[in-house]
Amino acid sequence: MQTHGYAAHSADTPLAPFTFDRREPGPTDVAIDILFCGVCHSDLHTARGEWGGTLYPCVPGHEIVGRVTAIGSEVSRFAVGQTVGVGCMVDSCGHCPSCDDGEEQYCTGGGFVGTYNGQDKHLGGHTFGGYSAHIVVDQGFVLRVDHDEKDLAAVAPLLCAGITTYSPLRHWKLAPGQKVGVVGLGGLGHMGVKIAAAMGAEVTVFTTSPDKRDAALALGAKDVVVSRDAEAMAAQAGRFDFILNTVAASHSLDPFLNALKRDGTMVLVGVPEEAHPSPSVGGLIFRRRSLAGSLIGGIAETQEMLDFCRDHGITADIETIPMQAIDQAYDRMVRSDVKYRFVIDMQSLRDEVAA
Ligand code: NAP
Ligand code: ZN
Repeated sequence: MQTHGYAAHSADTPLAPFTFDRREPGPTDVAIDILFCGVCHSDLHTARGEWGGTLYPCVPGHEIVGRVTAIGSEVSRFAVGQTVGVGCMVDSCGHCPSCDDGEEQYCTGGGFVGTYNGQDKHLGGHTFGGYSAHIVVDQGFVLRVDHDEKDLAAVAPLLCAGITTYSPLRHWKLAPGQKVGVVGLGGLGHMGVKIAAAMGAEVTVFTTSPDKRDAALALGAKDVVVSRDAEAMAAQAGRFDFILNTVAASHSLDPFLNALKRDGTMVLVGVPEEAHPSPSVGGLIFRRRSLAGSLIGGIAETQEMLDFCRDHGITADIETIPMQAIDQAYDRMVRSDVKYRFVIDMQSLRDEVAA
């Protein structure tokens, strides 16, 4: 069945209207009309070819909230009319040790299938993401969304920004009262602040944007440190149990590692185009500090995160945009000028197609 979306056709051309096929729903598939799709920095990295390996035409989008329009004969967990979400993955092998553990994002049986830029096992070619009117996804990769109807646009970013920050906080067993740093107050960072604060942490935001101070405090941070101020950074030495680094650009990790206590951990979730300079080994050894990474989260954990956010009244702070404004949104994202997530209202795409 044909659907409409917006695609990048090369790294340096604006996204443009694009018509393509979605498969007819198979026995375990759920067909979804997309209501909202969040704009992740990974969309920009991919559309603009910053990581290499982009398959064009590229329809980005992996923060999807929509309504079920049809289900396959074996689908038991979803019904037509239900509100659902789709995140960064639409499939995995299902039987490797990671899949068995519910950590499909670390699938070793060929890797998970990305919602976009993955290998489409059904139609051949590559997968197309949520900057589109409609998607068909296996029920194993569809999430229940039980937030209030009025919040659905602001729920979309939970499907990537939410789970990418929730998962490491859980994995590293964040305990109430611990001191947590969040580096970079963008889409991921602002979710990290809200979720860590809801888990009972005392959160400090490290930002390059001094004008984000009040907003950071309003999001739940107790303190804000301007990371370009070397003196202010030095004053943070040895204070933190855990630091979540969401920065999308190459930077020195040392001032942040230095801010960890003995045995503290900094987890990188940002994936910059250029590598970070190598951290100082001494800074790690003399305090037994750890530097780690984390990739999104598994499907069961994504459902747990959505339920946690519903129970704690957590959604993203968003600016809704029409599909047609995506390139301006990308340009603003590069300038860190977004508070704190763009979300595309897919009605704008339907209106364009109908006109
Ligand atoms: P974003 O909204 O653009 O936020 C990134 C933030 O980093 C900015 O708001 C800015 O915060 C800070 N920053 C930007 N340039 C900087 C620089 N040159 N030096 C220091 N700080 C800088 O991006 P996002 O959507 O949150 O994504 C962040 C990164 O995570 C991207 O690389 C994305 O691809 C990656 N990601 C990873 C996963 C995963 O599973 N690991 C999942 C999703 C996304 P301040 O203004 O506060 O400094
Ligand atoms: Zn993402």
